Amino acid sequence: MSVTAQDIGRVIGLHGDGLPVVSLYAQIPLDPAERGGLMGRVRSLLAGVREAADGQSVDHAARMSLRDDLQRIEEAFRSEGRWPGTRSVAVFACSGRGVFEEIRLPQPVRDRAVVDETAFVRPVLAVLDEYPRCCVVLVDAAVTHVWELYQDELREVRTLRGRKLRDPDYARWRREFTTHNRARELEKEHYRRTLQLLDELFRVTPYDVLVVGGLEQEVPGFVEVLPPRLRSLVAGTFVVDQSTDNREEIKKRAGEVLSEYERTSERQAVGQVLDTAAAGGRAVIGPDGCLWAGSVAAIDRLVVRSDAVLPGVVCDASGWLGTSGDTCPVCGEGVRKTPDVLDELVQSVIEEGGSIVHVSQDTRLREELVAAELRFPLPPVPTR
Ligand SMILES: [Zn+2]
Repeated sequence: MSVTAQDIGRVIGLHGDGLPVVSLYAQIPLDPAERGGLMGRVRSLLAGVREAADGQSVDHAARMSLRDDLQRIEEAFRSEGRWPGTRSVAVFACSGRGVFEEIRLPQPVRDRAVVDETAFVRPVLAVLDEYPRCCVVLVDAAVTHVWELYQDELREVRTLRGRKLRDPDYARWRREFTTHNRARELEKEHYRRTLQLLDELFRVTPYDVLVVGGLEQEVPGFVEVLPPRLRSLVAGTFVVDQSTDNREEIKKRAGEVLSEYERTSERQAVGQVLDTAAAGGRAVIGPDGCLWAGSVAAIDRLVVRSDAVLPGVVCDASGWLGTSGDTCPVCGEGVRKTPDVLDELVQSVIEEGGSIVHVSQDTRLREELVAAELRFPLPPVPTR
């Protein structure tokens, strides 16, 4: 169970084209005994959707689509035990356009249902962002274990055993080397093969980071001999008392390294954009500046608090984003209201090839909610 780029690709930019898209997020209790309350929770989350489906606030086609959405979503949640190990489920439905996507998340997210013309995807992106694809290498003079840790799942990738000092070898080599020297030669050879293996693995798998574990006397030396390209990807290291291939322990230790790495990266991203703005560089702080920057596709990196929600307006004709207004100041078309314009901003930045940092901890971004590093200076804000 893991979220894939294909899953995300199917929902990013999903547009109902005049029909509403229902986005529902629900936490799944880990304990099956507690799952009895799930259906009730989902029903009450959907109360607003049901009201719209039964009322006169939207047109006939939209009501029919919403009714089908409600039925399909409830069906999905009715089948007990469908999602073992899943912490949350996100559902995106727009039956009138034949859309029904289910994404399982390895992390609990806030319960909510949103009806909008586009899918509300930011919680999925934020979760995905928390999980860099991580290569974990456990170095040891005799045997190297390589694992992949991704979205809380640990998978064994490769085990590499060093050649041992065997008797025939020993007899042959003792003429030239002391046993000690030969053992060291073999160790060195083993490390060389480990480096080569890592280099090859990183060329074929899109790992984001490398975590190095091992005995206290081995780890620092190993990191030092890594090729620069790999060394720059080291998220951190951990020390074990003795050679281990204990899954749970490796997962726990590497997970701790990753969490710390993630916290540090978030703080650095926030610090960098705020400092750039303070120095008068290409950066903007706060919703107004960021929405305008997003409207003109100027955002290179958006830093956004993952729990921030801001109602606003969108112009589907020109891509203009704002906090209020009835008509678009860029093209004069009528705007669409959205329950969270920051989500629209995130999607727009992704579609324009920019990157997103979701900030989940308390940082200097507390008040401002969003900040952005820019590709070019912003044109003046239109006043129409
Ligand atoms: Zn417009």
